Amino acid sequence: MSHCLVTGGAGFIGSHLTELLLADGHEVTVLDNLSTGEQGNLRGVSDHPRFRFLAGSITDPVMMSEAVSGVDVIYHLAAAVGVRLVAEDPVRTIETNIYPTEVLLRLAVQGGQKFFLASTSEVYGKNFKESWAEEDDLHFGATTRPRWAYGCSKAIDEFLALAYSKKYNLNVVIGRFFNVVGPRQVGNYGMVIPRFVDQALAGGPVIVYDDGGQERCFGHVGEVAGIVKDLMDEPSAAGNVFNIGSDQSVSIRELAEAVVAKVDPKIAIEYIPYSEAYGDDFEDIRRRVPDVAKLEKTLGRKPVMPLDQILDDIIAAKRADN
Ligand code: UDP
Repeated sequence: MSHCLVTGGAGFIGSHLTELLLADGHEVTVLDNLSTGEQGNLRGVSDHPRFRFLAGSITDPVMMSEAVSGVDVIYHLAAAVGVRLVAEDPVRTIETNIYPTEVLLRLAVQGGQKFFLASTSEVYGKNFKESWAEEDDLHFGATTRPRWAYGCSKAIDEFLALAYSKKYNLNVVIGRFFNVVGPRQVGNYGMVIPRFVDQALAGGPVIVYDDGGQERCFGHVGEVAGIVKDLMDEPSAAGNVFNIGSDQSVSIRELAEAVVAKVDPKIAIEYIPYSEAYGDDFEDIRRRVPDVAKLEKTLGRKPVMPLDQILDDIIAAKRADN
């Protein structure tokens, strides 16, 4: 059994990963500053004998060296996340996403830990291909458009992690998450499914940006967290980048209709321009579909839970919380 550090472990994906690692018999330390994470996400494990919570920021190097002490595997999930948050505070995005990763990689070189880096489909930018594979080019927009600060900052993290892997033989796995969804995800930072479900449960309207023709693939957090954990146990994954997500696309209009059909078919769907939602200098990505062949080849599986089942799970969890 290993001792794992999960940075951002009180967050949406981090808390699900923490639960899985504990269930597998590992010891888990969570480092989280509770900025977008919540202590409540860990309520199911807070009394667990193999669980330890450190309240602190990844921007604090002293805290980080304390957190990695005695650890075998680092899952680095802490980051500035969410399109809304990133568009509103690009400085924070860059500061949170770049320097702390470098500090943590250095500590892992010294301590010999295995390292999982949580990256994002945002690194592909607005690549116009039908689906995106790990070796594809990155297509960012202009630096005057703050959205790209997030993808660029994570691309730098990837460069750093791969460079450390080559130079110091660090065992690094990089996972690019594609629209991970499920219970505990909140809508405050822009994420579409919790927003639609909250809006529908409050009686509507459900607010779609632009014409709703933009396409996404939604992967269930339980499947995604299991894949992250298993990639770290798979020796051939070391030194590699993986797309992690569902490859079944749906338009945002269809998503809104599916949520409304499940909660109450009488609820209205309204359409507003991006400028109203995010400000004038916002640019969206029209279609985002991962090619998950590399993941399937390496682990023999990919996230497959149908959207219908994912929505049922999220709506049930929200209803239980309200
Ligand atoms: N979206 C929307 N209404 C919302 C939030 C998001 O129509 O309240 C749209 C958004 O413009 C995007 C898609 O849903 O095209 C997914 O947005 P999200 O922020 O969840 O993820 P990302 O943009 O990173 O794929």
